[in-house]
Amino acid sequence: MNKFLFFLLIFVSFQTLNGQNNSFTKQDSLRGSITPERAWWDLTYYHLDISVDPSTKSIKGKNSVHYKVLKPNSVLQIDLQAPLMITKVTQNGEELSVDHQGNAHFIKLKSDQKKGSLQSLDVYYEGQPKEAKRAPWDGGFSWKKDDNGNDFVATSCQGLGASVWWPNKDHMYDEVDSMLISVRVPKALMEVSNGQLRGVEDHKDGTNTYHWFVNNPINNYGVNVNIGDYVHFSEDYNGEKGILKMDYYVLKYNLEKAKQQFKDAPRMMEAFEHWFGPYPFYEDGYKLVEVPYLGMEHQSSVTYGNGFENGYLGRDLSGTGWGLKFDFIIIHESAHEWFANNITYKDIADMWIHESFTAYAESIFVEYFYGKKAGAEYVIGTRRGIQNDAPIIGPYDVNQSGSGDMYYKGANMLHTLRQWINNDIQWRQILRGLNESFYHQTVTTEEIENYISKTSGIDLSAFFNQYLRDVRIPTLEYRIKDQQLKYRWINTVSGFNMPVHVAINGKDLWLTPTTDWSTAQIEGNELQIDVDFYVKSKKL
Ligand SMILES: [Zn+2]
Repeated sequence: MNKFLFFLLIFVSFQTLNGQNNSFTKQDSLRGSITPERAWWDLTYYHLDISVDPSTKSIKGKNSVHYKVLKPNSVLQIDLQAPLMITKVTQNGEELSVDHQGNAHFIKLKSDQKKGSLQSLDVYYEGQPKEAKRAPWDGGFSWKKDDNGNDFVATSCQGLGASVWWPNKDHMYDEVDSMLISVRVPKALMEVSNGQLRGVEDHKDGTNTYHWFVNNPINNYGVNVNIGDYVHFSEDYNGEKGILKMDYYVLKYNLEKAKQQFKDAPRMMEAFEHWFGPYPFYEDGYKLVEVPYLGMEHQSSVTYGNGFENGYLGRDLSGTGWGLKFDFIIIHESAHEWFANNITYKDIADMWIHESFTAYAESIFVEYFYGKKAGAEYVIGTRRGIQNDAPIIGPYDVNQSGSGDMYYKGANMLHTLRQWINNDIQWRQILRGLNESFYHQTVTTEEIENYISKTSGIDLSAFFNQYLRDVRIPTLEYRIKDQQLKYRWINTVSGFNMPVHVAINGKDLWLTPTTDWSTAQIEGNELQIDVDFYVKSKKL
């Protein structure tokens, strides 16, 4: 999501709210690290089975957690955030004791956990979950009404974590292989979650249960529940892997507007299959689901609340005009199907893997339909949102993301890297190759860095250190005297050696500066750096 932009729009500093908070608690570590009570078992399957009662703003149900034993142990950590309460945990029909430590719950297993064996346990829970006040920036349940007074309910939980509304292993490194989501709701309403609808069960008591099956690995925050007075329409998209079902769920009275506005969805699919490769979840289909908040990249059920208009709530974030050519939420959140849902960070410190590529995706969507110059103008335009307040990568193992610069500084880092690689066919192969090599995986920054270095044939370690782990913008310092150009990089990490494309009195030239002075014979005395590079210059 676009947390940073929201803060920008309401003129509150990202840093003060999200914080480069260096004091972390034990709860932060229990939430953000791969604890011994998490490490010994590998998730295989969840069946989340809950009733949602909008009239009391409460939920009740259970999650069946299936796992494979990697290393025998007798204590297993499950996360669930107060005020929700675990009421009972069972395994093989036996009730187990639970040691509650804040939002982390340590279950004492009785039966033998043999290495390689498949096990499951049922975690029963209930209560009134935390209500989202500013969804999706804080997270929890949004209990709203539509314009006709019908309940309009949705979950969102990136950052805060899925354990705000259901019990699970709330760390991103481990994903289930598949999941069944069963949600019981009042009969007058429809419920939409991830994956494909398996069936609707009528309980003959004024409630229905919707069973949604996700046939792919899914990260915790991608799981969602949406309840409303929905109508449905759909289309078949002829994509790289065959026919993809694209389904749309919107409030009844928004149907006609949605039929117009959602034409951006197949456009999105065409552009991103071109750049990133096949949509990663053909088996689960693609959905756009209207919600009572701005939007979120829920896997195979992207949620939408952008008011059926182009731009970001009607505004162009780039200031170039190109941002009004598309619906920001459809394009940005759907790009996350490749970078966030297909390739997922292991630790939220590496959230740039989701947001930098997705913010960049906006510009190559523009490029696909309006040309290379337009795409470049868009991404360069978004520089106005860069803060350079803190590194893009956050601290590890405490569930803390880095600077909001992960969006548009990250996008401009990628745009700059493309200039260095200077081969658009290879650049597209790298973007597609990432999605193929890390298909349905959780990854670290190092894995992404190494992949791009290896496939481009360039050692990019100093480059990534500069843009991801430092706040300084590389500055080309130079002096021109008697047809001689002296130049070097300053304001950089050691070893920074990116070549840079410049024009000298209008004539193209590639310079290969390092942090030491270099000299070149030139004709002319006006040096201009190619604006596609996110760097600065300083003339002496
Ligand atoms: Zn995003």
